[in-house]
Amino acid sequence: MPQTSSTLEPSSAQMLEMVASAMRQILRYTETLTEQAAYEPSPPGELAKLLDEPMPEPGGSLDEALALLFDHLIPKGVNTASPGSLSYVTGGGIFHAALAGLISASTNRYVGYWGGAPGMVELESRVIQWFCELIGLPPGSGGVLLTGGSMANLTALVAARRDRLDEQFLSGVLYASDQMHHSVKKSAFIAGFPPRQVRSIPTDASFKIRLDLLAECIERDRADGLHPFCIVANAGSTNTGAVDDLGGLAGLRDRHKLWLHVDAAYGGFFMLTERGRTALRGIERADSVTLDPHKSLFLPFGLGCLLVREPDALIRAHEVHSDYVSGVASQAEGTGCHNFADMSAEMSRELRGLKVWLPLKIVGASTFRRYLDEKLDLAEYAAHELRKIADIDVVAPPELSILAFRAQPPGLADEAQDALNERIMARVNRSRSVHLSPTLLHGRFTIRICVLPFRTHRAVIDACLAAVREAVSEELAAFGASA
Ligand SMILES: *Cc1c(COP(=O)(O)O)cnc(C)c1O
Repeated sequence: MPQTSSTLEPSSAQMLEMVASAMRQILRYTETLTEQAAYEPSPPGELAKLLDEPMPEPGGSLDEALALLFDHLIPKGVNTASPGSLSYVTGGGIFHAALAGLISASTNRYVGYWGGAPGMVELESRVIQWFCELIGLPPGSGGVLLTGGSMANLTALVAARRDRLDEQFLSGVLYASDQMHHSVKKSAFIAGFPPRQVRSIPTDASFKIRLDLLAECIERDRADGLHPFCIVANAGSTNTGAVDDLGGLAGLRDRHKLWLHVDAAYGGFFMLTERGRTALRGIERADSVTLDPHKSLFLPFGLGCLLVREPDALIRAHEVHSDYVSGVASQAEGTGCHNFADMSAEMSRELRGLKVWLPLKIVGASTFRRYLDEKLDLAEYAAHELRKIADIDVVAPPELSILAFRAQPPGLADEAQDALNERIMARVNRSRSVHLSPTLLHGRFTIRICVLPFRTHRAVIDACLAAVREAVSEELAAFGASA
């Protein structure tokens, strides 16, 4: 029997053995997640040394490679699989999707064109239809699975640009709130718009876009000979989970004939819950919607989604004919499916649909709903408990599952207060069981809690609250002693 390390065609027995070896490490990893640090710092240079070798020739042992991965490389940094990962917007990565990934990579079907893998394109199209129905988009709407929210926002802007502006589009103006995700600016920049043409509209006390100021800005730009063409709304901002007035924005869109793109990368799948549907009402009026299954559907990284009310608008912005694919491309006609290669910048692409379809098929939407409801409950609970701590102000109560707070003891200048909160957060993070991240709200240092990983349950939130209580009391005592 040849060694696995010297052939690209391992035997069935070897393949089973390889999966078993990897599985043993994965199990050890997942079974010990609660004992692992939610954040593990790594001194610069240390890891590079472990990897410093020329391209291996010949190959070596799988078990040694797995040991390097699991013992040294994977544990460092933000542990997004950890239940204590309350900093960035990450869902944790459910195993069912990893299993789907093994299947899709092993069978390696090509889903750029319907004719390439009709079964898999139909499956992925079904997933897109489920999402359209979830958001409330009308029959005939569609979309495409992409690598993440950033690519979905970019693809949406390109479609909006093509649909609402002519070829000389540089006078086009795009509107979003000062709470927009930075990928919106990045998308506009990549799509060719000068940065000054992305308007950052101020928000109200709840971090929602000010419709009055937005309307004024659109009028002013029109009067100046510019071409307003697109509004990007937040349906769950990254900073605080704020949801803009989506119905109000749809009204403005109608009045000014703009494109309304809703960035629901974080908030979108809360549509599975009753509270989410209330918070996100009006989302069904969007021209396009960004969803990130790798956030609020708990899937592993690499899964974003763009939905569009009119798939033709997306296709007009991306379709280019070529002789070598015209045969396979034309097979989509009459199927009701679109060729995914005509809906984004990608041609060859991973079969992403299976990573969504298989988990939904085997655990069901009701399971996802239950987990999302739990996250909403936990965020409310955290806010409620934080308010009981003296001198803590919950500056952004949770609309969904993100909240933001800071310590505001009386008589402290802004900079001193920022420094105090920075120390509080650092102390909480030193507990290792949870990891929180800061942001600036109205220019002030603020601590965020994002309750999204599927493994995050009440015990982790209690540990987080205990760490905050202790950090606040110790830092305030130190502050009192020095004052
Ligand atoms: C995360 C996020 C994005 C970017 O998505 P990626 O999947 O990280 O590319 C865009 N918008 C919002 C609101 C987000 O939370």
